[in-house]
Amino acid sequence: MQTDFSLERSEPDDQHDSEANPPSSLALADAINTRCPRSGKPIVASSLAIYRGYTVGFCNQHCRDDFAANIEQRPNDRKFFDDAISKQGRD
Ligand SMILES: [Zn+2]
Repeated sequence: MQTDFSLERSEPDDQHDSEANPPSSLALADAINTRCPRSGKPIVASSLAIYRGYTVGFCNQHCRDDFAANIEQRPNDRKFFDDAISKQGRD
């Protein structure tokens, strides 16, 4: 008796053709700063924002939301990030 079980099934398995990488997913590692411009505390992954095309971080979402909603009225924060951005280009 010959049982010729061939378990090789060639299924396409094209389940993952839509690898959506939303640009809104910011990564802590991409942030140009490591400390909150306001408190000096370490930034956290849940409090990232985009400033001038760069990922910037804050110590908490309150800082982040306040900055994101009032960028024009937060020159101190902007200067902090501007400085960090200018340092980025020195490598
Ligand atoms: Zn903060």
